[in-house]
Amino acid sequence: MYDFVVVGAGPAGSRFARRVTEAGYDVVVFEQGTVGTPLACSGHVSTDIWSFVPDDARDRLWQNEIRGARFHTGGPESGSHAFYKDSVVSNVIDRVELDRTLADAAERAGAEIRENHTVTGLEETRDCVTVTVRGPNGIEHHRGRIVAGCDGPNSRVRQEVGLQDPDELLHGVLGFDDKPDHDEFVDVHLTVPEFFAWRIPRGDAGVEYGLAMAPSEDVTERFESFTAGYGVETDRRCSGLIPIGPPEQTHSGRVFLLGDAAGQNKPFTGGGILYGMTAADIAAAYIDPENPQTLAAYEDAWRAELKRDIELGHLIRGGYSLPESIQETGMSLFEGKIGVHMDRPTSLFSREQLRAMISGFK
Ligand SMILES: Cc1cc2nc3c(=O)[nH]c(=O)nc-3n(C[C@H](O)[C@H](O)[C@H](O)COP(=O)(O)OP(=O)(O)OC[C@H]3O[C@@H](n4cnc5c(N)ncnc54)[C@H](O)[C@@H]3O)c2cc1C
Repeated sequence: MYDFVVVGAGPAGSRFARRVTEAGYDVVVFEQGTVGTPLACSGHVSTDIWSFVPDDARDRLWQNEIRGARFHTGGPESGSHAFYKDSVVSNVIDRVELDRTLADAAERAGAEIRENHTVTGLEETRDCVTVTVRGPNGIEHHRGRIVAGCDGPNSRVRQEVGLQDPDELLHGVLGFDDKPDHDEFVDVHLTVPEFFAWRIPRGDAGVEYGLAMAPSEDVTERFESFTAGYGVETDRRCSGLIPIGPPEQTHSGRVFLLGDAAGQNKPFTGGGILYGMTAADIAAAYIDPENPQTLAAYEDAWRAELKRDIELGHLIRGGYSLPESIQETGMSLFEGKIGVHMDRPTSLFSREQLRAMISGFK
């Protein structure tokens, strides 16, 4: 019997596995594919990322430094409003390498990581959860005191235990141009219904173009016309889902959800790497596998940490659907230097942001 069975070796699952293994628990992680693949993420993260990875990983992961964003209400040819800091706001990192680094750290701590093992079923009983897994040698059954569903936006674990799905699943598409670009600004185009399209300079790794929107037939068509506006043809296309939530409840008797499975991301960007790992640390601190009642404490604690930022994130996303004239006026008023933390919209009300605004009005 394992103390924890973790489903999914993305950032949330690997971080959680590392922390609970370090605390002395027996942990196995089942990953349906190979860690880090297929890629479906921009890897654009705040500098907080460095507190979650070993120091020696920085050189492998780092691709570019970002100081701000240019917002456009139109395509590439349109004017823009720049929001920036004097210091680095965020980094662009190699997302595949991030997942490998986090899984390696969990493995080094003592967790068993089993790639090519897909969890296909769960049965909760009073004393444990029996997990059905399809691996290279056929069907296996394993028992765990607690199961962590870290299996992403389309979570099988969530379905199996009957927890509610997130309100929406957006469809994100990415494509790459190999030409190196060391610009310190990302471009954001509010030209997509209820979300946006983006251009991210990735240093020597080239440029990434992407967009996300409600799944519909014209996602590809819109992506083509967006990149054509920039005069580029992208390759290495990939796509993934972005949950917008979170659902009302993220735990059952002996099972809990973490990361995208729990809708722990920013509704105004879809970014979930740091929220998922923040919640993983909270889960590791609160959940005692001998006492399933502690799952409720995890639920309260992660909401206390992230709820207000997620709520404000929903409000910000609402701004993407405002008429263009209002977006232009709003951005003209607030453009310039900012003090806000990219993962924490509540820092809009911080002293640093106030100072940045006042200096802009001088
Ligand atoms: C186009 C796009 C761009 C994005 N850009 C950013 C960005 O720039 N910054 C950012 O912070 N976030 C971004 N995100 C979001 C980010 O990718 C997610 O928030 C993050 O990956 C969530 O981590 P996770 O560990 O919860 O889930 P995942 O990374 O999805 O990991 C889940 C893992 O579970 C495995 N799995 C699934 N089902 C099973 C099963 N039944 N059995 C075993 N294993 C299973 C999967 O193979 C996967 O490895 C983006 C998302 C998309 C779609």
